[in-house]
Amino acid sequence: MTSDLKSWQACAYGGLILTMFFCVVLHEFGHALTAKRFGIQTKDIILSPIGGVARLHKMPDQPLHEFYITIAGPLVNLVIGSLVGIIMYYVTGHFSLSVDTYNFNEPLEFVRFIAPINLTLFMFNLIPAFPMDGGRILRSLLALKIGKIKATKLASLVGKTLAVGFIVFGIFNQQVILSLIGLFIFMMAGKEYDQTKIADILSKTYVKEILRSHFTRFHTSDPYTRIIEAYYQQGEHYFLVFDSLGKICGNIPKSFIKDTIKNQTTEKTADQMMSDKYAVVSPNQTLAEAIQIMRNQGCSIVAVEDNEILIGVLDKENIEDYIQLKTS
Ligand code: ZN
Repeated sequence: MTSDLKSWQACAYGGLILTMFFCVVLHEFGHALTAKRFGIQTKDIILSPIGGVARLHKMPDQPLHEFYITIAGPLVNLVIGSLVGIIMYYVTGHFSLSVDTYNFNEPLEFVRFIAPINLTLFMFNLIPAFPMDGGRILRSLLALKIGKIKATKLASLVGKTLAVGFIVFGIFNQQVILSLIGLFIFMMAGKEYDQTKIADILSKTYVKEILRSHFTRFHTSDPYTRIIEAYYQQGEHYFLVFDSLGKICGNIPKSFIKDTIKNQTTEKTADQMMSDKYAVVSPNQTLAEAIQIMRNQGCSIVAVEDNEILIGVLDKENIEDYIQLKTS
């Protein structure tokens, strides 16, 4: 009799965990579907034991869009929690948020428990600290008044203050999990600010400001020994490759040169070890636009052309150095 009871309970607990995951997925769909309404596609939804993330193709530019996209997730949990709570209240006559009041020897209690799970998810996600939805909601509302950068800085500060509160409260009340959540929030708070600052720099800097106008041109028939020479002596790590007519036909990324040195295959010519991908950007495009093109084409270096005249190149390291300089 006891073992029967245990096996159905094991199934019920398993079912409860699956239901929880399902609710987290619905929460993420809340974000993804709202983002779609504003023309932003979702790359994928990642689930982990500590929750889910809907990875959007880009962050919304408008604070109000961010507000709606972010709040949609917790609202899904509020709706599920309230509906299950109300229905179960009618069926059983009980409603409670406290785990202690649930009697898990009764099958129906597992269904009733879906309500507090969702309401807890709702409240937890509304904690106004990054990377929780609450942090983004706070940021988007502040951004309406003071702009995104300042709003992110302020929201990070609120998150950090809260995190310290959680850590201290957790230590004094021997609630290890609360302290750990605090620690996690504290570490993540600054990251969001850094990312926002970088995104701002990229959208306000033009290719012409950081392009390399001095660069070495290599042809398909050039030997790798010359490329390696330029790599070490000129400090150039990414190269464009030109065909016999002088047209760009591909690129050589840093990793190819390093592999060639490592594998001692320096007798090769450029065309034997090059990528046939290439892209052209305009000097008047922003770095954010240029990075998007580089990602789409799968190149770490692009040609910069002004009225079809090649005036320079832009590579991954130029951009990284510039960001480092601007953020340090
Ligand atoms: Zn969310």
